[in-house]
Amino acid sequence: MLKFMRNKLVGIEKIAPDEILVHGILDDDIYSLEIDLRVSLSDLRIISIEGRWKRWTTPECPRAIEPLKEAVGLCIAESGLYEKIRKEIGKKSCRHFANLLIECCDTVKNAKGFIEKEQEKLVRPQEKINIEDVFPSCPKEEGTLIDLHVHTYPASSCASNSIEEQIEAAKSVGLDAICITDHNYIWDKQSIERLIDKHGFLVLRGTEITTDQGDILVFGLNKIPAKKGLISAMELREIVKEEGALMIAAHPFRGFLISDVQSLGLTPEKASKRELFKLVDAVEVLNGRVNASENIFTKKVSDICDLPGTGGSDAHETSEIGIYATYFQEKISTEKELIEALKSKAYFACILKRRTK
Ligand SMILES: [Zn+2]
Ligand SMILES: [Zn+2]
Repeated sequence: MLKFMRNKLVGIEKIAPDEILVHGILDDDIYSLEIDLRVSLSDLRIISIEGRWKRWTTPECPRAIEPLKEAVGLCIAESGLYEKIRKEIGKKSCRHFANLLIECCDTVKNAKGFIEKEQEKLVRPQEKINIEDVFPSCPKEEGTLIDLHVHTYPASSCASNSIEEQIEAAKSVGLDAICITDHNYIWDKQSIERLIDKHGFLVLRGTEITTDQGDILVFGLNKIPAKKGLISAMELREIVKEEGALMIAAHPFRGFLISDVQSLGLTPEKASKRELFKLVDAVEVLNGRVNASENIFTKKVSDICDLPGTGGSDAHETSEIGIYATYFQEKISTEKELIEALKSKAYFACILKRRTK
């Protein structure tokens, strides 16, 4: 009798405040393989991926492991994802891994209730704490008010508005400039110059790079460091130093203060000992996708480390632009001036508009 069986199994587990581990197994009478995906809860981006063969047929099979890294940075919620996986991962890696990866992404989507509950915890403002008691509103004086953390679609697949829509939103809330910090992507100078002319508004370039120590905002680089998979914060520091650029720890405690067993007993003093704070030039103390108590906690940590604090919306859509911003004492009208101003440390994080949600 002809018989063939295939089993696919996917499990999801929360492993860090803003992180889930998705473990997938595909096992049939010919092949057996596994993948582990680390996914950020807040925006469903793939942070890392690891594949393993248990049983395979041709000598080429093991070569399918390395190209899986191309999936890092993909957003599970983006449209056309499965097509992309089939086309890109399927071709460079192999169709078995592509098949299992799609199953894993599909399971994350189907675990909607669990994911949404966890995501809500991440962004829910805590009513008892008043962020206005700790952080200033934006000053009226002459200076430059910049939202230092903005995403655009499609460069950041988890964002929903285009760069032009984000620029118009920034103009309308009274910012002087925005800094585009798409995930692991740097805009080319010419496109940005065209946009500045077209909209009559200052647009600056940065990027948000996922490292082994969390997301880091980088300003002053012209291209993304060439490295497949996850770069370490230490490696990034070396590159940034060489290029005269700067790095800022983005939302370092997102999700940390929501009744997680591992966060119990976490004090700003203990948290300030993290290796990350020895490597960065500043800390993002106001992030629009972090709740009030976590932003306040981050501010305490940055004070202990004696690092300046920046503010940014981390806007993925127009309505989020400019919730928080960074106020610079100097007039800034070029990228070079932004870098100088960041180096001078003459700036602080401030609140620009009230949260609507
Ligand atoms: Zn981030
Ligand atoms: Zn971001």
